[in-house]
Amino acid sequence: MSMRALVTGAAGFIGSHLVDRLLALGYEVVGVDNLLTGRRQNLAHLSENARFAFVEADVITLPHFDGPFDWVFHLASPASPPKYLAHPIETLRVNADGTRLLLELAEKTGAKFFLASTSEVYGDPEEHPQNERYWGNVNPIGPRSVYDEAKRYAEAFATAYHQSRGVPIRIVRIFNTYGPRMDPEDGRVVTNFIGQALRGEPLTIYGDGSQTRSFQYIDDLIDGFVALMGVDHSEPVNLGNPGEFTVAELAHLVLELTGSRSEIVHRPLPKDDPRRRRPDIDKAKRLLGWEPRIPLREGLRRTIAAFERT
Ligand code: NAD
Ligand code: UDP
Repeated sequence: MSMRALVTGAAGFIGSHLVDRLLALGYEVVGVDNLLTGRRQNLAHLSENARFAFVEADVITLPHFDGPFDWVFHLASPASPPKYLAHPIETLRVNADGTRLLLELAEKTGAKFFLASTSEVYGDPEEHPQNERYWGNVNPIGPRSVYDEAKRYAEAFATAYHQSRGVPIRIVRIFNTYGPRMDPEDGRVVTNFIGQALRGEPLTIYGDGSQTRSFQYIDDLIDGFVALMGVDHSEPVNLGNPGEFTVAELAHLVLELTGSRSEIVHRPLPKDDPRRRRPDIDKAKRLLGWEPRIPLREGLRRTIAAFERT
């Protein structure tokens, strides 16, 4: 019998790539999504695939599923700052109530539970780069708290289920990831800059552009997911690309790769915007023999090509 997986957030950017990979590995996959920030078109290529089923539903009121799962992957959650700020309660609830329901389901069906957590659990970090032992610097009532505190709670919930009830868990702290199928309107920096450059509009740098991020291409992240499924490790693992770039550097790279003559303009820096972010990936290297392979320039080239096609 083939392995069976449930993927929440399946119509989103990362979820849809995970579904593709699981199907390629021979899994039967049920994808759940309420389309809050995801798009049906991300799964359109699977409409004829007999091993894939899509259920349009909210995981906060999880529908009943027949039969057991081997894996429950919880990816459902708004992920881009403008989206989670627009949906604060939904973001808190999908990571709190949704995580609880999915852990219950995993326990009931004997599945392993996989949580898509985030580098945002480190907040505006006082340690650099961030390794998994760092507890973070998070404002519990700041605008980002609806996301970062919710993910911290989800990590705590999963860990408690593991420790008190023996449910096998995996927790990935995902650092900024980009690639084809991101929603061009999601407001994240990579999609904003590419869209603006292709339309010939000004690129909007928030603040002076000296803040840094580390950008990981989607295929590397999914490779890391699969590697983590293959080991028995219930503590959080960072997956990200340690190449660190200022936002201004990213803007110039996007201009170069698109050949755009857009100008650069500056807009106010959002409150609590982290100054620096770079993953320490020693643990993933040691535990999984994993490291990212796609440099930013190559990943951006592929992403720009995909955006030009749509
Ligand atoms: P996305 O917005 O493209 O996908 C999230 C999906 O979840 C969407 O399809 C949305 O409709 C769905 N969803 C939201 N609430 C739901 C609910 N209550 N019920 C059912 N479906 C719901 O975002 P993404 O970038 O693909 O992120 C996927 C996961 O990875 C999220 O949990 C996010 O927090 C995490 N993550 C992403 C990044 C990144 O850089 N992309 C970084 C860190 C963590
Ligand atoms: N940013 C920017 N211009 C934009 C969108 C974002 O300068 O049009 C900045 C944002 O303030 C942050 C960084 O780019 O410093 C990354 O933002 P994003 O929303 O992609 O992800 P974050 O890492 O903040 O969650």
